[in-house]
Amino acid sequence: MKEFDLINKYFKPLTNNISAAQNLADDCAKISLKKDEELVISKDVMIEDVHFLRKDGGYKIASKLLLSNLSDIAASGAKPVYYMLGYSKNNDEIFNVEFAQGLKTVQDKFKISLIGGDTINSPDRLFFSITIFGIIKKNKSLLRKDAKADDLIYVSGDIGSAYAGLLISQNKINFEEDNKHYLDSHYFPNPQIKLAQELVKNNLSKCAIDVSDGFLADLKHICDESNLEAIISLNQIPLYKKNISTKIDILDLISAGDDYQLIFSANKKDRKKINDVAKKLKIKISEVGYFKKAQNIHRITLLDKNNKKINYKKYGYEHR
Ligand code: ADP
Ligand code: MG
Repeated sequence: MKEFDLINKYFKPLTNNISAAQNLADDCAKISLKKDEELVISKDVMIEDVHFLRKDGGYKIASKLLLSNLSDIAASGAKPVYYMLGYSKNNDEIFNVEFAQGLKTVQDKFKISLIGGDTINSPDRLFFSITIFGIIKKNKSLLRKDAKADDLIYVSGDIGSAYAGLLISQNKINFEEDNKHYLDSHYFPNPQIKLAQELVKNNLSKCAIDVSDGFLADLKHICDESNLEAIISLNQIPLYKKNISTKIDILDLISAGDDYQLIFSANKKDRKKINDVAKKLKIKISEVGYFKKAQNIHRITLLDKNNKKINYKKYGYEHR
């Protein structure tokens, strides 16, 4: 299929005819802003055999790409609105159809639209990229650098489920009836858009990050940027089921990536309000520790249930 046919057939319907997309018929997209608004922008690139396998198919690949991008917007507290797509065209028609379907399912759920992109031929090695745009009131976005000493540390959802799903997909482990839950966590993460917007709206947090490289690694980013030390109770870290840690070391669970949950800080006085948000949104939010003034370079202290320090070696997945 020719490039323009592909764009017309599969990508134009994803614009929902919004004006920003200019019908994919001009050189640029165009985003209007109100005076008191800011755009927040994030980009992700995924390459075959590193971030996805071609055999996963277009639906899963597109879904995860867009969902993980949405998770970056969640980490800012903004409302996601538009995205642009970098697409490597291949000759597998079914792949193209399913890729567009994956995007459609996710964008309908989060009420966002495609506004442009670029298409190239790269049939031997696929890669895809999304740039996503969110809108937020000026100076309201959640920032890694804005946690404060004595703030509580919260995390949404469960940690390690996506890693369990990855191991299941590689036939390395089996959780029987829970396999589906873990596989879904791996392929279809749940970006915490609503939670982040609720935190911003109610001034309950200044600082958040989404867990993409691993709970420890991403928490460390907050510590580095806010110049704080984190004290974490290992047994408070939320797991889907206790038995996951009998098969996978807890230290692996908290240093594996792709959870796409939110770690955020909040003032102690707002503990009840945070619990109310969890109830209102019907999600799990767990208090896992607190920040204190940084005293040493090792910026996360892990405690066991007897408050004894736990030694650990690695923070998480590192991009080499
Ligand atoms: P240029 O030659 O300037 O790069 P193109 O001819 O590639 O422009 O693109 C024409 C139009 O189609 C543009 O509006 C562009 O945003 C849109 N477009 C191209 N590829 C994609 C894609 N993968 N997803 C969405 N829109 C696309
Ligand atoms: Mg182009």
